[in-house]
Amino acid sequence: MLVGAAIGAKIHSFWAIFIFAAVSHFLTDFLPHWDYIENLEDEIKNKFLVFNLKIFTDFAIGLAIFLWLFWNSPFIYYAFFGALVAILPDSLILLRSLFLVYLKKRLALLEKYFNFHKKFHFYKDKRFLFWGIICELTVAALAIVIILS
Ligand SMILES: [Zn+2]
Repeated sequence: MLVGAAIGAKIHSFWAIFIFAAVSHFLTDFLPHWDYIENLEDEIKNKFLVFNLKIFTDFAIGLAIFLWLFWNSPFIYYAFFGALVAILPDSLILLRSLFLVYLKKRLALLEKYFNFHKKFHFYKDKRFLFWGIICELTVAALAIVIILS
């Protein structure tokens, strides 16, 4: 999200932002990090409230940082677009899980996309918790430095 915002802040063309922000998502997925896309069906079915709370908290923190960085920026729309594009790839994964859980349906296109996305994805492991935190903080700090520069 912050990486996408950084891209939007520096590149002022919606098409270019779309391409770079989408690519940045898959690149940062290689790094150890947290997200919600593992055991997603289980989370939706059995821990729905906690799951929503987690997403909401994460989103609220992201939005607060975003507004702090861009409130007075002339590029706020570009940055917001970049941030949205950067979370879009995982939103599609969420959409797939919602289809699975509530409609018991697998859509061919979403399944293809899911397998494609999985190839890039770093799968977490307890040993990587430390590196996960380091990586996320580093990427977020870098994005903020780029935005403020
Ligand atoms: Zn992803």
